[in-house]
This record gives sequence, structure tokens and C-alpha cells, in this order.
Amino acid sequence: MTSRTDPKSAGTKPPGMTPLMRQFHAFKAQHPDKILFFRMGDFYEMFGDDAIKAAPILGIALTSRSGDDEDRIPLAGVPHHSAEKYLARLLEAGEKVVIVEQVEDPKTARGLVKRDVVEILTPGTATVESTDGHAHPLCLVAICENDKGRMGLAALDLSTGAFQVDEGDATVMAERVRVLEPSEIIYPSDRSREEFVQRLGLANGATSLNDFGEWNFDFRTAERELNDQFGTATLDGFGVGGCRLAITAAGAVFRYLRENHRQQLSHITRLARFDDAEYMTLDYTTVRNLELLKNVATNTEQHSLFSVVNKCHTGSGERRLQQALLRPFKKKEKIELRLSGVDELVRHRDLAAAVRQQTQLLPDLERLTGRLGINKLNPRQAAAIATSLEIAAKLREALKDGGSRSLSRIYDTLPDRNDIVRTVRAALVDEPPLVTNKGDVIRRGFSEKLDALNDSIREARAYIASLQNKERQRTGIPTLKVGFNKVFGYYIEITRAHSKSAPNDYIRKQTLVNAERYITPELKEKEELILAAEEKIFRCEEELYAELVSFLNDNIHDLILTANLLAELDLVAGLAELAATRGYCRPEIFEDNRLLLAGGRHPVIESVLPAGSFVANDTTFDDSPERIHILTGPNMSGKSTYLRQVGLIVLLAQIGSFVPADKAEIGLVDRVFTRVGALDNLARGQSTFLVEMVETANILHNATERSLVLLDEVGRGTSTFDGLSVAWAVVEFIAERKAARTIFATHYHELTGMAEVFNSVKNFQVAVKKWEDRVVFLHQIVPGPVRQHPPPAG
Ligand code: ADP
Repeated sequence: MTSRTDPKSAGTKPPGMTPLMRQFHAFKAQHPDKILFFRMGDFYEMFGDDAIKAAPILGIALTSRSGDDEDRIPLAGVPHHSAEKYLARLLEAGEKVVIVEQVEDPKTARGLVKRDVVEILTPGTATVESTDGHAHPLCLVAICENDKGRMGLAALDLSTGAFQVDEGDATVMAERVRVLEPSEIIYPSDRSREEFVQRLGLANGATSLNDFGEWNFDFRTAERELNDQFGTATLDGFGVGGCRLAITAAGAVFRYLRENHRQQLSHITRLARFDDAEYMTLDYTTVRNLELLKNVATNTEQHSLFSVVNKCHTGSGERRLQQALLRPFKKKEKIELRLSGVDELVRHRDLAAAVRQQTQLLPDLERLTGRLGINKLNPRQAAAIATSLEIAAKLREALKDGGSRSLSRIYDTLPDRNDIVRTVRAALVDEPPLVTNKGDVIRRGFSEKLDALNDSIREARAYIASLQNKERQRTGIPTLKVGFNKVFGYYIEITRAHSKSAPNDYIRKQTLVNAERYITPELKEKEELILAAEEKIFRCEEELYAELVSFLNDNIHDLILTANLLAELDLVAGLAELAATRGYCRPEIFEDNRLLLAGGRHPVIESVLPAGSFVANDTTFDDSPERIHILTGPNMSGKSTYLRQVGLIVLLAQIGSFVPADKAEIGLVDRVFTRVGALDNLARGQSTFLVEMVETANILHNATERSLVLLDEVGRGTSTFDGLSVAWAVVEFIAERKAARTIFATHYHELTGMAEVFNSVKNFQVAVKKWEDRVVFLHQIVPGPVRQHPPPAG
């Protein structure tokens, strides 16, 4: 680039640059790190480096246009009506996008059309549908830290308004962040990025990590702005009194949203603290090891626990299930409440069918209230809110005779808001459009003013509607067409072959390759009438729609409550469906340390094996002192499967689900810890052995006698002797101090000797039998240590 065209070379833009490019560069200078979507007519154009970066991500053509006298500037564009899907792709690639709109009508603008930034989309704040069409939670996290190593965190799903905060020891908070797998994290700009990447154990590049002006992390401002948002005088009611760091982080989230042009956030009505007394905390390693949401090998949802147990019909229900799996209940009462609903629907299949028939039709009301909250609800979505409420009313009717606590609670609390349905239906046409400013939104009969406007041009519209037939008859040209475009307005089109027969009163307006377009004075006259009135009609419809949206906004609390209850009902009905189709049983919950499973199965492995081929196993932690079960057996005999199945059954029970077993008695578990196999932590730069030690130490520090500890091949990541010593030391530690229910799968036969030393240790093995010189795995867990050689056949 010559110095003359280098925009940085002088304070003013080079004289040769077009006014449009000068306008673009002015916006770009304010957002150098983001991609600008620059609205030009029906397209969003990207220029220069933005185009070069975005074109390959979007799979669109990179072209160029003249930027000034000498240079051409790279260019790529997407049609504005399909912008959502392109935006989703850029955001998923971790990019941020600034939307620059035309803020005056190009038709009436004198000179260059005025433009302005209307929206900034970042991975954690954009409410566009993801490209895979899934209802993933959207998670924006803000973190801050004081000089004593205490960290505050706030996590918001902008699409639903779910807002959670916490503060505590930095390592504990970092663990929370890992489990949340946020789409975006913001941190104060006076802190080093590398430090947070390392602290949070983020795989580099996986999460969009952005610094945000440190002045936005201010406790007093945060407190004031949050109180404004929630209409409260103090935040103590949310259980965050005295949590300065948590509040500071929450305040930063709001500041960040406002900075990104999200002024209205009416769906965020409360915040909640992560509650460790109510909910079980699972560490990231356990979430991964047990493959709760994702299969580790493929890193996809397929063959995860979630994929197998999810029978929900709505996105709201699915997100609730995901949340539940990450944070199961710790209190018997909560578990029993949900279980009661699942149980009732398992027993009353006709009621279950009636409920499922309705949930199947249910829109994602949670997300719809989210759209309403950020003032982006389109008319079709407004109609979907009414549909949701209609279905809610039918569900309420279906639950009328519900006997369980769970279902009768939903029946009692579901608001009856038929009035909202009536208002929306009266206002909107049957099939409302996606945009508010092109008419056909408001139903006839709703507004006298609007009806009068429409009536005023009824005759003109009828004239145009009948013109094509009339003129075909008059001219005898069968292919004559009446059409409309933005530039020329209404026209009469005649193919070239017939153009000689055009009547004398036709005035030629435009020549196409194969046709001529004409107007007539009468047509123009009607057109002027229509266009002038339509301008008013569209504006009137926009105003009426805005009133409807504001009415909905006034009722957002009831909409949120309804969404919440419907999500719970969808989840309960889904779990009942799961239980009924897969033969799960209702677990019995106790406040002691037992864990008795008869015929337990691994929900995921069972679902991929041919029906009936999974071998069920019992698990017995009763009131005997044997709290540590050492499980030995050859590779591929089923040790890991068994270990995980015990963990999964406990978790399912504690979210209030039925479980894959014939009978299950479960003493409440406060935490499940796992250490399974050697994971790919090498990517994080730690050796396998070190990782094992860190994770094992974490377990040993945090497990209580209420915990469930699942250890698979601990000590494998090092030489045999060291490994054995580590494994021995771990068992010894638990045996002497913890008494947690522990299953330890190992190939170190030497460990079986511990049963002779500690009366809390009991040996189990996976049975194998010899058949025609081959070893056959029976996948059956039986008491006793494995002998060095498989037992004889039979
Ligand atoms: P290990 O941990 O002993 O090496 P795994 O638990 O990984 O063995 O099991 C290996 C394979 O054996 C599993 O992928 C599964 O196909 C099969 N398997 C394990 N347990 C069972 C079971 N209880 N019933 C049927 N098949 C099983």
C-alpha cells in the first residue's frame, strides 16, 4: 500500500477514498478486533481483512471492490435475511461481530446513508441459533479475583436469563468454570490473559477469553446496577449478601451486555448462588470420565449419558436435564419430589401419553421469553408464546387429577393466563411474519385506525389485483404480467415477442433481456395512493406490535414461571418415558451410607449392546465395615464398565430419575469422585503421572464418608513399582481415614493382599471361564481375589 492510501499514515483519510469507505473505516477504527457486518441494501458486506478472515469460515466468495482511486479492497457479503446462520458460524469460530445498520431510509437520504452500530455479538452474548440446531445453554462467564487468591464468578445464559454466581477459593472456582464450559469468559483487563488460561486450565482457543476494562469490575457500581435491574433494595435476598467478588463479577456481566448494545434485559429477574448444600458438585474430571454430557472418545453428545436418558421434547427440558446431570440433588426431599412425578407417570401410562402428546407440540418457551427480554421477539415468536400458554392450559387440565406431589405442585403453580392468549390472538394474524415492518402483522378488527387505513386503499388494491386479467383481455397478450419492484414500483411486463402489441397508453419504463416493462398514468396514480398509505399502515402495525410486546413484557414474570414449570414437566415426563421403555426401577433413597444395587446395568453400554446381552451386576455396600471394594480382572473383562455404572446409577437416582437396576437402595452421596484411566491431559502440559497425583490428592482431600469414590487403574501412569506404591498408599489412606464407599479397579493383583491387612477392604473379581483353550469374559462381578490363572471352566 502506498503511504497515500494507508489509513494510518495521516489523521485524515486519504482524499481518494470513497465516502463509503471513509465511513467504514471510522467504524472499523472503533472495533479493530471484531468483524464488521456493514449493511448495504439487502446485504451485509465485509471489507478488507474482515472479508479475508470471514470468507473461508463462511464458505463464501471473496471478491473485491474499488476502495479509492488506486486500490481495490477485498469484499465478501451475505444476504441480510439469512444473516443468522452466518453469524452463528462466525461466533462458533470464536469471532465477534459488529452489526452496522443503515439508520435512515436510503430513499430519502441526502448523500451517504447514515449508519450506526446497533448490536455487537460475541460468543457468549449472541442469541442466534447454533448451526447444529441444538438448544445448548449459552454461557457467558465473568471472573475476577482479589489479592488473596479468592475468585468471584458469574455465569449467565442470556438466551434464558439463568444467572448464577459464586465466589471462593480460586481453584474451586476454576473447577466450576471448567464444568460450565462457557462460550465466552471475560476478565479484568489489568490481569494477564496467560494467567487465566493457566489458572482455569482452559485448552487454548477452546473458549473465547476476553479482557474487559477493569473499571467495569467494581463492587459498588455492580451492587447499584444489579439492584436497579432486579428492582430490589439489597441483594441479600438472593443469598449473596457479603459476596463482594461474586457481585462484582455479576455487575461486570451486565456492563458487558450494555456495552454490546443489550439495553433491555427484562428476562433476567434474579440471580442465584451455586448452592453446595442443595446440589452435588461434580468436578470436571468426573463429568468427563463418566461421560455425562459428552463421549470422551468422540467429543460428541452421542453415547453420552445425556444422549441415552434424554427423552425430553423441548429445548427447555433438555437444558434442565443437562443442568441436573451436572448438579444432582443432595437433599432427599428434592429427589423424592421429582421421583414422585416420574413414578406417577410410569404407573399411569394414559396420563403420561396425554402429557407427552402436549409437550411434543410445545415451543421452547424459555428461549422465547429470552427473546422477549432482549426485545428481539418477532411476530411469529409472539404467536409461539400464545401457543405455549394454550398448551400449558391443556397440560394443566391433564394434571388436574394428578396425585403425586410433583404433578400437583405443577398444577397448582402453573399460572392460568388465558388473557394473554386472547390478547395475542386478537392482535396477530393467523400466521404472522418474521419482521414487523412489512405489514401483515396485525389482524383485521384489532385497530380501527389500521382498518381505516387499509380501507382507504381497498379500491386501489383491488384495481391492481384485477389489472393483470383486465389487461390480458384488453391486449390479448396471455403472458402479460403485473409486478412490483422497489425501484420502479408497479409495472406491466410484456415479453419481447408481444411488445409490438403494447397499447398506446403504455409508457415504457424499463427494458429487460426478454421483456419490456410499462406503466400507465392510472397505474401510477393508484401506486402513489397505495405506497403512501402503506407507509402509514406499516408504521401503524409496527406501533401496535410494539404495544403488544410491551404488554407481554409486563407479564414476563408469569411467562418465566410457566416456562420453568413446563421444563420440569417435560423433564419428568421424559424420565418416565425412559423408565418405562428401558425397564428402570424407582430407587429408594436413604440418609445413610448404604449402596445396594441388585441387577445394576450401565445405561449407555446397555443401550448399544444387543438387547438382553448386557450382564447385570450387584453392588453391596451395606452396614458391614467393608467400604473399599478392590476389583481385579483381565483387560476388557468389564471393570471400567462396572465402576462407571455404579457412579451413573447414583447420579441418576440423585437427579430424581429411575435407574437401570432391578432394585436400588441408595444412601445419599454428597459427591462422586472418579479417576478413570489415563486421559488426554497431556495436552495441558502435565505428565500423566502428575495429573494422576493431583487428581488423586484432590479426591483424598475432599472425599467424606458420604462420598462415592471410583478409582480405575490409579498408578498406571508410572513404572510398575511406583504405580503399585501409589495405589497401595491411596487405598491405605481411604481405609484409615475416609470410609467413603470406594471401588478400586486395578490390574495390580498385589493389592488384593490388603484385604488381609484392613478389614474395610474386600476383594472382587470379574469372572472368566476357559472354553476350548479360550478365555471367555462373563462380565460377572463375584467376591474374592482373582487368582493368577483363570479358574477352571464350569
Ligand atoms: P476393562 O475395564 O476390564 O478393561 P471394560 O469395562 O472397558 O473392561 O469392558 C470392555 C467391554 O466389555 C465393554 O466395552 C463392553 O462391550 C463389554 N462389557 C463390559 N461389561 C459388560 C457387561 N456387564 N455385560 C456385557 N458386556 C460388557
